[in-house]
Order: sequence, then structure tokens, then C-alpha cells
Amino acid sequence: MAGNGTRPRVGVVKLTSCDGCQLAILDLEDELLAIAERFELADFPEATSNRWSGPFDVLFVEGSVSAPEQVERLHELRARTTTLVVIGACATAGGIQALRNWGDVTDWGRSVYPDPSLLPVLDRVTPVSEHVKVDAELRGCPVSTDQLREFLGALLAGRRPFLPDEAVCLECKRRGFPCVLVSGATTCLGPVTRAGCGAICPAFGRGCYGCFGPREQPNVSALVAQFERVGLSADEAGRRFAGFTNGAEPFRAAIPIEGAARPAAAASEGGDARN
Ligand code: SF4
Ligand code: SF4
Repeated sequence: MAGNGTRPRVGVVKLTSCDGCQLAILDLEDELLAIAERFELADFPEATSNRWSGPFDVLFVEGSVSAPEQVERLHELRARTTTLVVIGACATAGGIQALRNWGDVTDWGRSVYPDPSLLPVLDRVTPVSEHVKVDAELRGCPVSTDQLREFLGALLAGRRPFLPDEAVCLECKRRGFPCVLVSGATTCLGPVTRAGCGAICPAFGRGCYGCFGPREQPNVSALVAQFERVGLSADEAGRRFAGFTNGAEPFRAAIPIEGAARPAAAASEGGDARN
């Protein structure tokens, strides 16, 4: 145990992100004092100006990898961390910023900066798991506070956290919401998306956007075919997967390409899963 006394030493670090997942941790208002008593919060940019570079018993990583120094930093942090947990859609599945993978980063840069060659960016934005070994993933955009609570509680109790892998459809049916996909009202990614949000979009008559990313062995091609059966073109059907979790396979593979090569695997960018 690296922390003071018996308290596990915890860090929160950010990569390319909006800080919303850190704010979700701070949103655990009723539990924050108890968390601060039971864990040593050694590094947490949104909560304290104290900095700590390790070792960590638990490190929460927010954000996706989009710059070379982030790859280096990740490997250094991984080497100093016992349990590395990625939080939110950016860290687990690339986030919205990974949509730039479908274009040329130099072209994007040129539209904003006079000299894009000075931009220290990687060609592709990738989830953390494409670079280092990840011990747990907490999903959502922002990360689910229920999953945070469950994970921290399990950590203290020394048990395995319960992080469901069922489809959003199961939560949706348990809550008795009418199916927007069956009624033909709109498309919905619920059948292929991991549960955890309580089917909040179907609760308001909207289709699931896939914020929690793909569940285990999702049948994406069957859902694309269903979208086409209800009137979408193949292009429109595939674009339904170009959201918060577009960088996670097999969502990534379903997204159509416009006059460009499909984003390649991460091997050329130090994308090995080193420990
Ligand atoms: S997952 Fe969503 S809330 Fe969290 S850092 Fe990324 S964009 Fe922000
Ligand atoms: S509305 Fe979406 S999540 Fe709910 S049952 Fe239908 S397909 Fe599944």
C-alpha cells in the first residue's frame, strides 16, 4: 500500500478531455467527505493544486490520447500504479475528439493555426487501452457516478466491482419505456450499448447515443441492417455510431468513410499495450 497509514493513495489525471469526468467525481457530494477520509487524494487537478507523480494504489485516467507526450506520460504513470482505471467515454473510447480520425489532422490544424506543423499531436486520437494495460473501465460521458460509487466501495471492501455488461435494452425494458426503435420513431443504439445509464434517452423518447460504448460481443452489423430497413441509407446508418464512443471497436468499424481510408490501427503510434 503506497498511501499514508492504511489509506489507499489515489490520483486523478487528465489527458485530452473536458474535465467533465473529474467534475462527476466532485459531484459525489454526499460521499466526498467519506471518500476523503478513506482515500488519500494525492493528485486531482480539479480539486487540489497539490501535485503527486506516484506511486499510486489507484489512478483514475480521464481523457483520450492525442499527443506524443501523453503516450510517454501514460507509460510512466502505468509503471507507478497498481490499479489503473479509465473513466468516461474519452478515456475508454476516444471521445468526440476522436472524430478527427476521419479527417487529416494537418488540414484541421491549418484551419485554426498559421503553422500546423508546430502542433504536437498524433495523427490519431485513441483510447487509453491502446497504449497501456487498463485494469477497469468506468463508462459514460461524463463517467457514471453510480459506477464510481460502486468501484470505490468495492475497492474498500476488497471485492470485485459489479459493472454490468448487459445491453441498455434490458434497463429500458425493466423501466417499462416504449421502444423507439420498434415503433419506428427513431434509431437507437441500445441493443449494442453497455447498460449503466438507466436508459435515460429512451426515457425521454429519444434513441440511445451509445455513450457507454459497446457491450461485449455487440451485433453491430445486425443493428445497421435494422436501421437500413427503417429507411436510413447505409451511410446514415453507419454514421449513427460516430458519437462519443466512435473510437471503440466495433463502433469504429461501422462508421463510413468519405473519400479517405478508414482509420488504421494504432500500431504505428506506440499503441502497444505495455504494462
Ligand atoms: S467523457 Fe465526456 S465528460 Fe468525460 S472528459 Fe470526455 S467529454 Fe468530458
Ligand atoms: S428504445 Fe432502444 S434501448 Fe429501449 S428497448 Fe428499444 S432499442 Fe432497446
